[in-house]
Parts: sequence; structure tokens; C-alpha cells
Amino acid sequence: MRYVSTRGRAPALGFEAAMLAGLAGDGGLYVPERVPVLSPDAIAALAGLPYEKVAARILAPFLGEDLGGATLADDLAAAHAGFRHPARAPLVQLGPGHFLLELHHGPTLAFKDFAMQVLGRLMDRALARAGRRATIVGATSGDTGSAAIEAFRGRDAVDVFILFPEGRVSEVQRRQMTTPAEANVHAIALRGDFDACQARVKDLFNDHAFRDEVGLAAVNSINLARVLVQTVYYFAAAVALGAPHRPVAFTVPTGNFGDVQAGAVARAMGLPISRLVIATNQNDILDRCLATGIYAPRPVRPSQSPSMDIQVASNFERALHDATGGDAAQVAAMMAALAAEGRFAVPARALAALRGVFASGRASESETTATIARIHAATGILLCPHSAVAVMVASEHLGREPMVTLATAHPAKFPDAVAAATGIRPALPARLAGILAKAERVSVLDDDAGALKALIRERIAR
Ligand SMILES: *Cc1c(COP(=O)(O)O)cnc(C)c1O
Repeated sequence: MRYVSTRGRAPALGFEAAMLAGLAGDGGLYVPERVPVLSPDAIAALAGLPYEKVAARILAPFLGEDLGGATLADDLAAAHAGFRHPARAPLVQLGPGHFLLELHHGPTLAFKDFAMQVLGRLMDRALARAGRRATIVGATSGDTGSAAIEAFRGRDAVDVFILFPEGRVSEVQRRQMTTPAEANVHAIALRGDFDACQARVKDLFNDHAFRDEVGLAAVNSINLARVLVQTVYYFAAAVALGAPHRPVAFTVPTGNFGDVQAGAVARAMGLPISRLVIATNQNDILDRCLATGIYAPRPVRPSQSPSMDIQVASNFERALHDATGGDAAQVAAMMAALAAEGRFAVPARALAALRGVFASGRASESETTATIARIHAATGILLCPHSAVAVMVASEHLGREPMVTLATAHPAKFPDAVAAATGIRPALPARLAGILAKAERVSVLDDDAGALKALIRERIAR
């Protein structure tokens, strides 16, 4: 299996190299040259299998000879051992024809654990085979950083540095990053906002001498491996509801477009997904783009669902690549227009192709709060604000097929929003409550690339 850049000007790579590279050399994202298609019989045969077995069948063709085989089964077993629910991604029914796919039973209580736990093991193995170490540096508004630290703590071949904006993540999110005691974990509170954190990480990747010196690697959601691993729960859920014999629709709370793009890959692999509904909060660039064909970022307005407070949805580039039939020149032209003019128009044929796969909707702040309250009153279920955005949008798209709405985080990660809607402050699961008393370890840094490089050099020299 080969992976090509969405912009067509970087060499095609195998899975292992594409995973380690993160971003392609031409600024594009890696996508499979040809998506493997599963026959209806092969999809039907997934029914009743344990989640890890489903994962092995879905991922094996993508990994090819690089990292597949017997060890993949071990990696997948270990990756899911820390989930608190035996189904890993259980479905619960919200109402007639409407189901919630709970993706928050992993160690850091957000769906990012699914891909990150697998990525941590695959990367460690790839690095060991290559006899090298890597330095992972990432910026987070909360959930990605904690999932990355949880996945990479104590691994031999990596150091993991996570930058978060000082004072702007919740206490639970901060403590998930600052309490791990392993020497390869480095939490950094940056004196700046999330954009500053992202900008400093970009500085490091753009300093090619430094990048090679420390072996920089990226685990943010543009990493190909994360998108591919996330296809697994689409298969598991759809098969549980009758696929391949019955089509299923999904609604996905969307920020950087990684999660919903995984659904598009599953659909391309032959899973009968009738529609993928993109749910956005008040930062509704994707909903506007689908409606008008114009992709035009506006300033981010902070919301109760901070992991969706994004206006440049990096993974949308993969959907554009699909929608143009793999026309890398068209994709590169759109991205060049975005960089030069701050917006671009989706060509008419590509827009029609997008609308054939995706629908969209938005939920305002008050609609989000009202949805948390309404679902709690009707079912007793507490939704996190991201999941509530999706449930609100999904309820406007219910149709003949069963609708599966992705619940991306546990309500206890966002207790203020949940309490404001219901009066109930959800408690952390017992195994996480310990972090509230543990000692914290964090480096506070000025918003300065030089200081960041110095800290990284000093820490990896240990
Ligand atoms: C990251 C995140 C999202 C958005 O996922 P994308 O892949 O960026 O679209 C939604 N909900 C929660 C809780 C998240 O952590």
C-alpha cells in the first residue's frame, strides 16, 4: 500500500514512512493511493467479533507488510486494554432510530484515545526497527495533549513534549498532562494562547536543521495513521446496526475534520454509510462551506465545546482530494488561494461530490445547553458539550436509516457546561480521580521558539 500527498508534489511513501513523516514535504497530507474495498461478505463477517479483531481486519490492508502480521494483533490488544468498557465503543439508544456511539471510555475520556493508543505502539515499533528515536512535539487545547501523553508515556524510543496555553485548559485536562511521572513526558505551559502554541510547534518543524537534529515527529490529527485507525469504530457500529444489509447514517462533532474524514474512508471501503453529517458549533466554517461553496475562515469564537473551536480544518484537504477525484493540482490551487487570499471557492463538480457524501448543520451555544438538558431529562444520559452539538444537529437529519451520533468526550471532562445545563456536576471515573491529588510537573515557558528549542535539547540529552 502506497500513500500519496494531496498536493501531488511529494514522493509516495509506505505506511510506516508516511506515519513518521506526519505532513508531506509539499505541505499536503498523505492519503491512500487506492482505498482497499471490503466485499459485503467480508463486512458481514465482522459481526460479533471483539473490537480488536475488527480493528485487525480493517487495518491490515492499510499497514501492508510494514507493520502488519502477528504483532499487530498484540499491539491492538494492548492499545484497547485500558478502555473501561468491554465493547470499547458501545452503542446506546437515544430515541427511535437514533443511537449514540460512546467513544469516551478510553484512558483520557475522549475519542482521541482510540487512534493515539494504536499510534503510540505502531510508532514505537517502527522506530525500534529503524534503530532511531523521535521527539514528538504537539500543541493542544486539551484533549489531544492528554491522549498523546497517555499513549507515549514510558515508551522507549520517544520523548513527548506537549505545549498548552497557560491557564486556558481545564484543571482535569492540565493534570492529565502534568501528573505522569515518566521521564519521557514533558508538559509545557506556554505564556500565550493556543494559536501561539501551534505557531511555536510550526517554527520547530520549519527549522529543518533542528527537525533532523532531534528527529521531530507529529501526532496531531493530520497524521495519516490517526484517520485510518478511526475508521474501525464506524465499521463496528454500522455492523452492529445491520450493515452491510442496511445502510447507516452518522453525525460527527467536527473540528479539524479528522474524525468525520475517517467515516468517509470507511464509506469508500464499502461500508454502506448513507450520509455523514458534519456538526459544528458556532465556529461553523464547514457548514457555511457546504452551503455556499466558499471556504472562508473567520476569527474563532470560544465556545463550550473548545475542541471544535477551529476555523482551519486541516483534514478537510483530504475530503477535497477525494471530491476532485484525486486531482492534486486542484487541491494545491485551493490551498494556495487560502494562503494568499484567506479563502477559496470549491469548484462546482467537487462541491457536488462533497454534497453527495456529507450533510451539515450547526448548533449555537444556547442550543447546545438546551440539548444537554433535553437529553438528560428524556434519557438520563449526560452529554459533553461536543456530543450535544452533534445530537442537536443529528435530530434535524433523522431519516429512514438508523442515525449514529458520535459522543466524543465524557461529560466529566467538561463539568461546568454540564452543570450549567442540568445542575449536575458529573464526577470523574474513580481511576482518574487520583490525578487531583498527584504532584504536578510542568515547565512554564515564554512564547519564544529559542527557549523551547533549548528546553527540548536539554531534556533529550538526559
Ligand atoms: C478533537 C475533538 C473533536 C473534533 O474532532 P476532529 O477530528 O478534530 O474533527 C470533537 N470532540 C472532542 C471531544 C474532541 O476532543
